[in-house]
Amino acid sequence: MKRIAIIALMTAVMAVACQNRRPVIGISGSCPQGWVSVRDEYTNAVSRAGGIPIVLPVTADSILVEEYANLIDGLILSGGEDIQPAYYGEKIFNETVECIPRRDTADFLLLRASLRRKLPVLAICRGEQLVNVMFGGSLYQDLPSQYDTIVHHHQENARNGAQHIVYLEPGSRLHELLGVDSVGVNSFHHQAVKKLGEGLKVSARAADGTIEGFEGDGLFCVQFHPEAFVSAGDDTFLPIFTDFVKQASRCRQ
Ligand code: MN
Repeated sequence: MKRIAIIALMTAVMAVACQNRRPVIGISGSCPQGWVSVRDEYTNAVSRAGGIPIVLPVTADSILVEEYANLIDGLILSGGEDIQPAYYGEKIFNETVECIPRRDTADFLLLRASLRRKLPVLAICRGEQLVNVMFGGSLYQDLPSQYDTIVHHHQENARNGAQHIVYLEPGSRLHELLGVDSVGVNSFHHQAVKKLGEGLKVSARAADGTIEGFEGDGLFCVQFHPEAFVSAGDDTFLPIFTDFVKQASRCRQ
């Protein structure tokens, strides 16, 4: 009797501990000049939202990638280099396009492994573009020379300042989370979505029509950098991360 009571108590304690376990959020890293690297704005934003951030190294070892996908409860595809245009059937447009081929291989493997497990995916900048390409979409390779606009999308100098407005699509998760019809975002991208991938829905556009966010099943994608605001203590975009961490908050079997 006593033993049964102890076992029951232990099971209850473990269940509570499991429920309270903070979700592990894998953040895809880059590999410039032999380093594994990701800006700490991503890790700061995840920890502010209650998740445990871990940085995933770049690897083309598909078995290892599967193991990483088993470790994490949610995936953030981080920003960075351009995706090789061959992935969407184009040749390199000009000298502004800079790619790290093995990062493309690694990120596509990670995304596929995460989708197969139905892990929530938050894709930012390059990550957003990668999701679009994975679903059959294409990109403007060099927005300033391929898209006639007066909106400046490439302003590296103010990472956590609003550089241009985006208009949120009613009915989108982004609109629901932020609770406003338009919001100022930062903008340091020289590429953007051209043709939207299959099954994806636009959630935000700049005044010039540029797609600045889209969503899909388990996919939340933005062209701007909410992590830079959250990391700097500006809570405007914190709901993006808290909602993502909440979705990832489920006990692993
Ligand atoms: Mn922009």
